[in-house]
Amino acid sequence: MESILKFLNEDQVKAVTSDANHLLVLAGAGSGKTRVLVNRCAWLISQGICTAYNVLALTFTNKAAREMKDRLDTMLPNDKGMWIGTFHSISHRLLSIHNKEADLSDNFQIMDAEDQLGIIKRMLKERAIDDKKYEPRAIASFINKHKENSIRSNNLPVASNPFEQICQEIYIDYEKNCQKSSLVDFAELLLRSYELLKNNPEILNTYQSRFHHILIDEFQDTNTLQYKWIKLLVGDRMDITAVGDDDQSIYSWRGACVENMQKIRTDFPECALIRLEQNYRSTGHILSAANKIINNNVERVGKNLWTDSSNGELISIFEAFNEHDEATFVIEKIRAMVLEQGYSYNEFSILYRSNAQSRVLEKLLLRYDVPYRIFGGQRFYDRAEIKNILAYLRLIFNRNDDTSLERVINLPTRGIGEALMNKVREQARYSGVTLWRAIVSMASSDNNALNSRAKNALVSFVNLLEKCEMQEADSFSQWVEGVIHNSGLYKMYNENKIEISRAENLEEFINACKEYDNEENPLSVFLSNALLDSGDAQAEQGSDYVTMLTLHSSKGLEFPVVFLVGMEEGLFPHEMSINDNSLEEERRLCYVGITRAMKKLFLSYCQTRNFHGKERYNMVSRFLQEIPSELIHSERILPKINNQWFKESIQTHNSGNFYEKEYIEEPRKITITKNSDYKSDALGENHPMKSIGKKVKHPTFGKGIIVNTEGSGQHLRVQVKFSSGQIKWIIASFAGLEYLS
Ligand code: ATP
Ligand code: MG
Repeated sequence: MESILKFLNEDQVKAVTSDANHLLVLAGAGSGKTRVLVNRCAWLISQGICTAYNVLALTFTNKAAREMKDRLDTMLPNDKGMWIGTFHSISHRLLSIHNKEADLSDNFQIMDAEDQLGIIKRMLKERAIDDKKYEPRAIASFINKHKENSIRSNNLPVASNPFEQICQEIYIDYEKNCQKSSLVDFAELLLRSYELLKNNPEILNTYQSRFHHILIDEFQDTNTLQYKWIKLLVGDRMDITAVGDDDQSIYSWRGACVENMQKIRTDFPECALIRLEQNYRSTGHILSAANKIINNNVERVGKNLWTDSSNGELISIFEAFNEHDEATFVIEKIRAMVLEQGYSYNEFSILYRSNAQSRVLEKLLLRYDVPYRIFGGQRFYDRAEIKNILAYLRLIFNRNDDTSLERVINLPTRGIGEALMNKVREQARYSGVTLWRAIVSMASSDNNALNSRAKNALVSFVNLLEKCEMQEADSFSQWVEGVIHNSGLYKMYNENKIEISRAENLEEFINACKEYDNEENPLSVFLSNALLDSGDAQAEQGSDYVTMLTLHSSKGLEFPVVFLVGMEEGLFPHEMSINDNSLEEERRLCYVGITRAMKKLFLSYCQTRNFHGKERYNMVSRFLQEIPSELIHSERILPKINNQWFKESIQTHNSGNFYEKEYIEEPRKITITKNSDYKSDALGENHPMKSIGKKVKHPTFGKGIIVNTEGSGQHLRVQVKFSSGQIKWIIASFAGLEYLS
């Protein structure tokens, strides 16, 4: 028992041992909220106040639930039976136990967002509704929002416009359909379990008698339905312990409601409030930077976080020329710290705002043989949208690729559903040809086996592929951009805020293609290299690896060394937040990111970045500028000619948040070096990436700095930013470049 209180400060002990019925712990990052929650569980049980059986603990992720279980297992090895999980997993458990009362069959299935979309698409088709006019994703979001507000389809107000009318009709049908097939989506899990408790007083009573305490982590990110669920379950019998930090509320775009932190105190007037102000995670400098940044938010309760650990190292800032230079810096730094300072890979994390940023980092990690895992997400080439565009390209390259055809034939929906595809498959089998050949022959045949709608759909698909292949473009990447748009993939993802990161990944895909613009046969080389770029597998769970993750999924975690990359306006804060007034949420996200770091924090930004498929000059993130200069150490200050040039470019393009400049590109003729060539001298001094940042002099264009490279040896081409402002690609071995010290 003593050990439960041994490593806690005075306020933490107060929270852990509080005898208040309800308790809210409101405290900043790294102040021990999660530790308090776990230890309070252990305290209640060890004191005999309740048993493990009487405790329900709710976490934000499954990983957090596992960690909490492990810690409690160590503290109380003999006390089993506690319910620990996310809102979704606990709801699932309740529905599985009481499936009859919840009106579900005993083999009901959970479906993910993709399954949900599939059903909606099918319904639109059955009703012959144009899914371009009535976007399936928008309808899915209508359904989910209504479920989160506990509004069932039989309880909808009169529709105020035709779109709402369609959404309502689909919602009604969707509910019937899911019920018939025993399918439950994520929002349904919560709503159904809420209704189960609400409509079955005896079941509610059972759980109110069973659970004496409910403990909730990351309370600031609960949504309206979760709050109602808690309130109903607690009634006037159970006790609540909720811990949270209003400064870390980062999911309002997904319905999280930070006001719940106020609400709990009004709804449960006897709710005690304890604040924790000592941070145990980070060094003084890191904490000061985080405090300074979050102080710029107006809408906050306000806290005073302090630490008695030493100031530690200054925060390192790295100004990169571009995203390749940035990734090289990060990975070389990690390697150096592992080799020279005894760090292990597990101690590092790389945080980014947008999923799409992972591609260049992954590529470099693979080249340098640094093991990594992407936490809470997939590797770039494993993401569905990337697999989809790759399937289009594969099919254009080789029409006989049946697997790719199957993947994209009706993506986005274009009226070629399962019934029609079955006919195509049958025809292909019968004639012993590929699906493509079968489609072409069915589309051009005069026999009446197909109705005209089906035939038109096939003709359009054939025409679409031909159009994609034949479209005019100045380069391979521009051609791919055309395929992304003509196929309808981009529009499909870009129209939904939740899916926006998929559209960003497609834009990043265009950047990946740019590296092949000089190839003689770029499509073929790119397709084979895309496989190489994706590497084998991620590092094994439990082994030593660098963790890569988005800022959103970093909540609650901590790492000795954190690299926060892409500190640029438009990227972070994300341009969407600049446009729709959610800057304070972006700043909270920055606060979350910075406070993940324990010992050392690196922040980096690029002068130029391929962003949304274009080369852009982004301004340094306002968040970085909110950190006082005395907390900062510059890892690299760019040479004067660059700074000068950069400033001039800002002055000439001073409109909006971004600074775009057309490059004067010379035609590229040489063969791009393959991954394998890099790999062989990945670490050597001759690695071409090492040239980035070197000062050079050209006989005609004068002094400049290398900002990018391609190829190696005789084939080495360098991109040089000259003091005149011009940027040129130059073949190093022919240009008579002089390397300046
Ligand atoms: P976040 O807001 O990021 O979720 P948190 O408030 O939940 O953070 P914890 O993760 O519980 O904070 O604690 C942060 C770190 O400080 C952990 O490594 C934890 O073990 C350590 N810690 C917490 N309290 C103490 C203490 N009293 N003495 C020593 N270390 C502590
Ligand atoms: Mg925590």
